[in-house]
Amino acid sequence: MTVAGRVLLVTGGSRGIGAAVCLLAAGAGYRVAVNYASNAAAAETLAAEIKAGGGEAFAVRGDVGNEADVIAMFEAVDKTFGRLDAFVNNAGVVDRKARVDEMSFERLERMMRINVIGSILCAREAVKRMSTLRGGKGGSIVNLSSAAATLGSPGEYVDYAASKGAIDTFTIGLAREVANEGVRVNAVRPGIIDTEIHASGGQPGRVAAIRDTVPMKREGKAKEVAHAVLWLLSDEASYTTGSIVNVSGGR
Ligand code: NAP
Repeated sequence: MTVAGRVLLVTGGSRGIGAAVCLLAAGAGYRVAVNYASNAAAAETLAAEIKAGGGEAFAVRGDVGNEADVIAMFEAVDKTFGRLDAFVNNAGVVDRKARVDEMSFERLERMMRINVIGSILCAREAVKRMSTLRGGKGGSIVNLSSAAATLGSPGEYVDYAASKGAIDTFTIGLAREVANEGVRVNAVRPGIIDTEIHASGGQPGRVAAIRDTVPMKREGKAKEVAHAVLWLLSDEASYTTGSIVNVSGGR
């Protein structure tokens, strides 16, 4: 199945799982828009790597938790590539390890603004461009949930787990809402994946510390998540919508 010329936007595409999705997609023939929030160098380096390999890519800044940024980001894709076929809602954050009875309003507001409102805002913009009801040609959306959505992350970050529970519900609801408009919506639930997100939450040793709790007794690689995302985006998943795929080593 050829994807040559199709356009993919990945939020948080500059590092970790998002970067693995961008690289795999570019290799498959997608033209890729690599979104980032603040680390321009990582995004520009990835876009350059894709172009050096013969692909098409550009880096686009935008905080998914800021509506004006989200609108500008999608307009940048319109301007650069002129279409949108695939969208990955990947940008997401954790926070410091804490109990719920220690969590500030500011922490909760940031968590929900980026992980939940940001994902819904971005999906809104994607659906506006993809839905046949709005003159689009259809498309595919994949949301990044987490195994935390089913585990709850007690004593660590229940707020993060709840934000990913919201992504699961949003995936099911949006999938059914646009199922007859040419748009498929699915999610992937990664388990413990070796990226910088753990250090960003103040736990650089988290992967090594909990590796043994995974039935497979190892962490996952970003590329292992990216393969599931790419399949869900592809025409090979043409009858799959509203599905949530665990990529968690059995966890
Ligand atoms: P990561 O390594 O920390 O990378 C995060 C990416 O998101 C970066 O490109 C970052 O850009 C971008 N980003 C952060 N905040 C943003 C915002 N407000 N707006 C736009 N972009 C933003 O994360 P990851 O581990 O790859 O995680 C990717 C997704 O998978 C997240 O949704 C996460 O919750 C989920 N997930 C991860 C794991 C895991 O173990 N790694 C497990 C389950 C689920 P900058 O570089 O500019 O900051």
